[in-house]
Parts: sequence; structure tokens; C-alpha cells
Amino acid sequence: MSNQKIALVTGGSRGIGRAICIRLAEDGFDIVFNYRSGKEAAEETRAACEAKGAKVLAVCCDVSSSEACNDLIAKALEFGGRIDVLVNNAGITRDNLLMKITDDDLDAVLNVNLKGPFYMMRAVSRQMLKQKAGHIINMSSVVGIMGNAGQVNYAASKAAVIGMTKSLARELATRKICVNAVAPGMIETAMTDAMTEDAKKAVKDSIPFREIGKPEDIANVVSFLASEDSRYVTGQVLCVDGGMAI
Ligand code: NDP
Repeated sequence: MSNQKIALVTGGSRGIGRAICIRLAEDGFDIVFNYRSGKEAAEETRAACEAKGAKVLAVCCDVSSSEACNDLIAKALEFGGRIDVLVNNAGITRDNLLMKITDDDLDAVLNVNLKGPFYMMRAVSRQMLKQKAGHIINMSSVVGIMGNAGQVNYAASKAAVIGMTKSLARELATRKICVNAVAPGMIETAMTDAMTEDAKKAVKDSIPFREIGKPEDIANVVSFLASEDSRYVTGQVLCVDGGMAI
């Protein structure tokens, strides 16, 4: 087995996932990432990581399918022979008031945000157990802790991510595999671009920092959780939110 470390990031083609790929490439990892459909954006992420000296494998697949997740892990292992870090970052919203959330809106959000990380963690666990090492980092949200009007489906998925993180951290701790979650507050990406200026201002005013975060703010914390500096940290939820969830 080569000593070159490999990080696998879901939803790495843009936004927070792209910033994580670039930061981990800078940290010396080779990068495997997936995306659902944005090939052009994926190529931009690839180029940015390669510019940092990383080898890169980009895979187009949907994390809401367990077969696709198993296949993604298999491809990552073929590429690098090991998986040191898994970042479950891919996520979607289908916001509405509860009475207007359709069954499809509920299923779509749970399938990507909850089942996706579940399938990925199940598929990667066998390899990490073999390695007796690994870091799993799940993208939750402050909404999974605080709740948010208009996001009942999304909040449920992100709270579930926290429950899965803590449970798996307990299962894997004896093998020194760390499982943690990051809970971003409001971060400037396509996901938040969809909000009206008024809605953005209202959120900004509610943040103690009075500032919307950047994808790099999340990537910096993921970099720490993916490193040996965090070797004694497991089962934690790190809010990166300018104080939003205090
Ligand atoms: P973006 O919408 O900017 O990017 C989402 C990424 O996930 C894209 O790469 C997208 O690929 C990919 N993706 C979406 N659905 C799937 C799928 N079914 N299978 C595989 N890949 C998929 O999101 P953000 O960067 O804003 O968010 C990243 C994570 O952080 C999410 O989990 C989100 O819930 C969480 N978060 C974000 C916050 C924010 O303020 N932005 C706040 C709190 C949490 P493609 O482009 O090809 O569709």
C-alpha cells in the first residue's frame, strides 16, 4: 500500500465541497471527489487541485443510490489503494413551509442528505477498519441544531447526520477511526445565492459576527479534522457559524 494519503469528498464540484478539495490538496492529499451533474464546475475543481500538486479523480454519480456509493468507494480504492479521509459534503435543500413540503421534497432531501452519508459511511467503514485509521467528516448544519422555519425537511436530515456521526464515532473509536460533524452557519455558495437580499440581510443581522461565512472557513476546520492534530477528537459537532448557534 502506498503512503500517499487519499481524501474522498462528495459534492466537490462547487461551493463548500470545492473549497474542501482544494484545501486538502494543499495539505498533501490526492483527491477523489464526486458531483451529480455539473461537469464544467467539476473540471474547475480538478484543475484547482492539480495546481496544488494533487492527483485527482472526479466521478459523476448520485449519492442517494447505495450502488453508486459502493461503486464510488471501489473507484477511489482502485485510484489510491486506501481512503484516509471521507468528507460527506453533498447536500440539497427543498425549502418550504411544512404544509407545502411535498412527499417528493421530503424524499429528495432525505435521500441525498441522510441516506447519502449513511451509504458512504457503510461502504468506507470496512476499508478504514482494515487500515485501523481514518477520519470521517459529515456536513451537518446549524439548522440541524437550532431548527429553521421553512426547512423542516432539511433540518430533519441535518439533525440525523449528527445522530449518525455520534453513533458511528462510538462504533469505530476502538480502531482509532474518528467521526465528526461540521455544522456551518450561513456560507456564501449557490445554496445561499438563491435567497432574496432581504432574507440574507435578516440572517446576517442575526449572526453575532454580522458576517456571512466563506467556503474556506469550513475548509479550514475540515483540514484540522482530517489531520493528525485532531486524533483525540471524535463524535463532535463543530459549529462554524460566526456565533449563530451560541
Ligand atoms: P452547493 O449547492 O453549492 O453544492 C452542492 C454540491 O453537492 C455540488 O457539488 C453538487 O453537485 C453536489 N450534489 C448535490 N446533490 C448530489 C447528489 N445527489 N449526488 C452527488 N452530489 C450531489 O452546496 P454548498 O456548498 O452550499 O453546501 C455543501 C454542504 O454544506 C451541504 O451538505 C449543505 O447542506 C451544507 N451546508 C451549507 C450551508 C450554506 O450556507 N451554504 C450551511 C449549512 C450547511 P452538482 O453541482 O453536480 O449538482
